Amino acid sequence: MPLLKSWVESANAADCPFPLNNLPYGVFSTGTLQPRCGVAIGDVIFDIKTAESAGLIAVTDGAVFAKPGWNAFMALGNTHWVALRKRLLELLAEDSDEKDVLSELLTPMSDATMHMPFQVTEYTDFYASRNHAFNVGTMFRGAENALPPNWLHIPIGYNGRASSVVVSGSDIRRPWGQLKGPNDDLPRFAPSQRFDIELEMGAIVGNPSDGPLTLQEADDNIFGYVLLNDWSARDIQAWEYQPLGPFQAKATATTISPWIVTTAALEPFRCDAPEREYDLLDHLKDTGPMLFDIDLRVTLAPEGQDASTIAETNYNVMYYSAAQQLAHHTTSGCSMRAGDLLGSGTISGPEKHNRGSLLELSWGGKEPFTLETGETRNFIEDGDTLNLEGRAKGDGYVIGFGDCIGKVLPALDDPYNRS
Ligand code: CA
Repeated sequence: MPLLKSWVESANAADCPFPLNNLPYGVFSTGTLQPRCGVAIGDVIFDIKTAESAGLIAVTDGAVFAKPGWNAFMALGNTHWVALRKRLLELLAEDSDEKDVLSELLTPMSDATMHMPFQVTEYTDFYASRNHAFNVGTMFRGAENALPPNWLHIPIGYNGRASSVVVSGSDIRRPWGQLKGPNDDLPRFAPSQRFDIELEMGAIVGNPSDGPLTLQEADDNIFGYVLLNDWSARDIQAWEYQPLGPFQAKATATTISPWIVTTAALEPFRCDAPEREYDLLDHLKDTGPMLFDIDLRVTLAPEGQDASTIAETNYNVMYYSAAQQLAHHTTSGCSMRAGDLLGSGTISGPEKHNRGSLLELSWGGKEPFTLETGETRNFIEDGDTLNLEGRAKGDGYVIGFGDCIGKVLPALDDPYNRS
């Protein structure tokens, strides 16, 4: 599909992350506007709440965008998703008749503060990149036992914490936790020394469901995608994870990018999952291309210094699609709600520079890597700013997600001192 031209000139640049083809959904505020739903177009944000009250868009008879979040709209289902996108494409297209009225509903992105685009009702995190699972398994259990026996048959995951999900730009405080290093006789309570990122994509469930979903139903129920950084304390994780999986190691924060890029905008970038070593059981068997070709990049900027690229990969390396994760999630009868967030799991490709975590990039801290500033890293240091970037490349346009950024602040001297 070629670039769709808009009367918002900045949206027509070949490298603009928010062309008319994208139309991602977020929540923004300014000094004079309370938080509200908006759509990114070029370098401005279109105020959906005001457009609805002015009668320029009518999703239903009532006000869908009265609250600052996209959950109510998501829950309306695919017919309404298609209708709103169609209306926005008309209003913002180059030949729109409504330019003069609409111009007053645009806010420069540079004046806006971004908020959580939706209320995260539940958060589940998966482990679906074969290279990542193999790398981590090799470090923890040796290459012979790297992939757990279930791994090639089900997309394994665990239930995370919706309360820990924050929007891009939120500072991240280095956590304290219980740790036990190889030379410690007993565990101790201390700040994490092996604090890390996980480069992931987050899939957002739109349609609620109550019972098992087919793979096609699961794919249809995914409203859109965000970038997701699942901050991880590796030393806390190593001590606590057996036998029930990660707990406090993953509960500090998970950062998401502020714009929901809809599945509709990503349609031209669909691609197949990799070859299967074993046929998947029927309810998980691939029925069409349900992964997406999205270039991904991680940068790290030490305090006061320029950012270095530390990893580059693509979402297309995943072994399981978000649709397969959602279908698997519902097999037990588990109900899903609008705003359910599914983390893909760390996305690592086959080469060293494709690894989506510092744990892998430094091979458990044994092989420090060098930044463009000349500094080296094993894990995150205080003052480091980590950012994730995602881009799908179309014919003369790109689809971007916005930043997924967080700065790591030093651990508190005493986390129980409330003065
Ligand atoms: Ca994760």
